Amino acid sequence: MRICTEIQTWITETISRPIESWVNREERRCREQPCNWWCLCCNKWFCWIVVIVVKVVTWVIETVTRLVTEVVCTVVGFVLDLVSFLVNIILSIPILGGIIRTILNWVTEIIWRIISLPDFILSLAGVRIRKKMYVKLIILNNNGVPHTTEAVAIRGIQTAQEVFNTQCNVELIYTGVCVPQLVTNDMANNVECGAGGFFSDWWIGGSYYELVSADCAFEDGWKRVVGYGAELIVFVINDITPRTTVGCSFSATHNYVVVEPIIQGIQSIAHEIGHACLLPHLEDAADVDNLMFPRIRVDGAGELINRGMNNFQIASLRGSRHCTFI
Ligand SMILES: [Zn+2]
Repeated sequence: MRICTEIQTWITETISRPIESWVNREERRCREQPCNWWCLCCNKWFCWIVVIVVKVVTWVIETVTRLVTEVVCTVVGFVLDLVSFLVNIILSIPILGGIIRTILNWVTEIIWRIISLPDFILSLAGVRIRKKMYVKLIILNNNGVPHTTEAVAIRGIQTAQEVFNTQCNVELIYTGVCVPQLVTNDMANNVECGAGGFFSDWWIGGSYYELVSADCAFEDGWKRVVGYGAELIVFVINDITPRTTVGCSFSATHNYVVVEPIIQGIQSIAHEIGHACLLPHLEDAADVDNLMFPRIRVDGAGELINRGMNNFQIASLRGSRHCTFI
């Protein structure tokens, strides 16, 4: 768990290092001070003893703390992961799991939106403290043949990283790719971007996504349950309907978005993440260069053209439960 490494670093920085430099200073002082001959250098001996005792005591305390943190962290982390794994399995039960999931995602979204209201206001005013978002890639397949490779799909992630980094001061952290061996079922592979897709999420397709996520993003399980900092998962699937649609998100309802393996689909990742953070479309002709313009345009080199964001969009994206300080 990340929190464990953070505790370790904290111990090193605030306790170990200062004591170490004190010990070094004392050692030098012991070495340099003149010997009091009248007591057989007792001052020097005493000085050395203090240094050695401090050294031994810090070493013991440090080792014990490290061990305890490690054991507690591993146990707590394991239990937390296991509980969320089980919760995630329940969430992948068709219909019932789907309904719980939809409610859970919206409740956590609203709660975290309220909590991050100060950041939303600051962001509107142009003060944007660095935030993080996590994204994972899952490439599905046609009868076992993956729709694309990581090398291709990563371009869409990189575009999203650039867009959110430069405009929102958000670091989009890519946590890697997962290519499940399991043959993708039709309902997960072909999604209707609309009410049909929304409800199919409660059925086999959605269950498949949940199962694959629980397996591929195992460590992130508890964050997907509480919502805060939940990783966004980009599924590369076979086809999205209507025909002209290359990517789809069901806003805050799901922790995932789906894209088609063609270049427009791959480059729609930033746009779909925008939807997942509650950004709606901007359909005015004047917004043709905006990230949330409904049509994804790419240039000859396959780079995304429409990537602009306005102040309100930036603040809204930063206010999402996916966008966090830790
Ligand atoms: Zn859209």
